[in-house]
Amino acid sequence: MSEYEKNIERLYQEPVFAKGGGVCRSPWDIDWQDEPFSPRDETLISPIKLPGIMKDIWEKGEPTKTSAVYIHVPFCRLSCTYCAFYKKQADEAAQHAYANLLVKEIQSLKNRPYLTRSKISSIFFGGGTPGILSAADISSIMEAIHEVLPLTKDAEITMESSLSDMTEEKMDAAISCGVNRFSFGVQSFDTKIRNAVGRPLPREEVLKKLSAFAKKDALMILDLIYGLPGETEETMRSDIRDAKACGMAGLDLYQLHILPNSPLGKQFKRWGKSLEIAVLQSLFRTAEDELGRSGAANISCTHWKWHPAERSLYNTLSSSGGDILPLGMACGGEIGGVGLMKPMADAMYSAAVRMGKFLPMGARQSSRYRAFYKAIEGAGDRGVIEPARLAKETALPADLLLTPLLDLWKSWGLVTEAGGVYRYTSSGRYWYRVMIRRMMHAADYMLFGKPDTKKKAHWGGMMNMR
Ligand code: SF4
Repeated sequence: MSEYEKNIERLYQEPVFAKGGGVCRSPWDIDWQDEPFSPRDETLISPIKLPGIMKDIWEKGEPTKTSAVYIHVPFCRLSCTYCAFYKKQADEAAQHAYANLLVKEIQSLKNRPYLTRSKISSIFFGGGTPGILSAADISSIMEAIHEVLPLTKDAEITMESSLSDMTEEKMDAAISCGVNRFSFGVQSFDTKIRNAVGRPLPREEVLKKLSAFAKKDALMILDLIYGLPGETEETMRSDIRDAKACGMAGLDLYQLHILPNSPLGKQFKRWGKSLEIAVLQSLFRTAEDELGRSGAANISCTHWKWHPAERSLYNTLSSSGGDILPLGMACGGEIGGVGLMKPMADAMYSAAVRMGKFLPMGARQSSRYRAFYKAIEGAGDRGVIEPARLAKETALPADLLLTPLLDLWKSWGLVTEAGGVYRYTSSGRYWYRVMIRRMMHAADYMLFGKPDTKKKAHWGGMMNMR
């Protein structure tokens, strides 16, 4: 019996795996269980060693089969009450200066061997609100991208924006220089619900803008959140009908996560309220039902499409382990087996760019089992898990590890199984993040044995998933 098999046997003797765990009491528990998982053999890289390691990556690093670039634009003029992102106040002069820094940073990467060997299939402008940039700044950044980055012919180039910041003029400029997908944080179409969380435009204006944008030569995607104060099954159905009616190519559906330090988190505390799991589940099931009625196809546990050309490539790539090069300040990515965090401070970021340097603020050496973890995460994100295939692809006993867990989930109604392929049910898609974390912790146990739960306090919490 191999060491892995012995660990799997021990794993299923752990009371919590053997009995299947308890029941979550509230979404606060889910947030706690949902802490980012980090493989046990990941290590922080000392700042002294980092320049040498980066030099090696740029010169000798082997990119993944396809990779992506994330470009961070931290500016935003909205104050969504659920937001706890790092962001900077909108300021035209500062935005223009930042766009110039992005152009310089991209140009500083020209001809680096790691990049010339890469096939970049996806670029994602995230924020903040990247749509806040002027048409001229968007064009300059895109020009630098085309000059320096080896894009595949059918690369997906997405720009996030709030609806209030995007204009037809900006969109036309962005499309003319290659942006082919726009993602809008609509969250809800209902005017009262939107206004209560800091989204200014009324429903009629949202419909008008989206319908006009949908006529452009690019895919339009929107985000909806379920669990916002005031949402009901009827508003969920109406939101999905509105999204389809105004010509959206697809949508992302996310659960509201109340971060304690966000304005909404503080409001909930004052009201003495928390989100009810039963309410969240019913909103999610209603939304899924309406999406099904509307003919939307499910791409992952959070993404649906109406348009056949919609691929959601960036999300797929990031959950399945493709390299992601982070550009701009205050963002992260992973290239050449090293996880990178870019500087949070303006002065540090701008000084590095002016010196022609790509400077991470911190870095960690990725796990040597990264491909295994990412194969599990990618399958869990799609909601289709085939343990025998994962075992073949990764040369590790994923089938022995995952089949007992998946069979347990089948008996709970979270997955169905046919021919060794497990597919999430609607309940499974609701719990998908917790299920991914649980599979990751099981994989960690198989690879390294029982964790020291005092050091990894969240490990025990993961067991409480139903
Ligand atoms: S638009 Fe995005 S970044 Fe800006 S406040 Fe709202 S959630 Fe936060």
